[in-house]
Parts: sequence; C-alpha cells; structure tokens
Amino acid sequence: MSKKPPRCDACNRRFRRNQHEFVLRDFETGQVVGRYHARPDCQATAAKYMVPGVALRGTFYHPERCGGDLARCDGGLLAG
Ligand SMILES: [Zn+2]
Ligand SMILES: [Zn+2]
Repeated sequence: MSKKPPRCDACNRRFRRNQHEFVLRDFETGQVVGRYHARPDCQATAAKYMVPGVALRGTFYHPERCGGDLARCDGGLLAG
C-alpha cells in the first residue's frame, strides 16, 4: 500500500488537513472508488461515477476545524 497522501481524483492535488473530503465507495464491498475535494468543481467529477445501476456510497469527511458544529457546516462548498 502506498503511504503517500491521497490526491483528489478530479484535480490531482493533495488533501490538506483543513479541507473537506468527499469519498466514494462501492456500496457492497466498501472499497474506495474515488476521493475528491468538496469543491463543486471536484464533486462534478465524482458525479460522473454516480450513474444508475452502480451502487456507490458517498461520504463527507469534515476536518477538525468543523468541531462538533456540523449542522452549521457548509460542507466546504464555499471554502473548498
Ligand atoms: Zn480536487
Ligand atoms: Zn465541515
């Protein structure tokens, strides 16, 4: 397994600790299909994989700065 920091499959840049991450997994196996920044640009690429007939599960990961106040979090859509 690679120990390099993961990169966004859309823009190919690394994830920073304070960035939101959107991870796509195979619904049945749980295998990671792709990881993306929460930015609209990067999520648009993720959306291409979410086609009918393919069971994928998308999960948002919040950075520590979001703390316990996730209800007010914009999901990184504005700040990236
Ligand atoms: Zn990206
Ligand atoms: Zn957040």
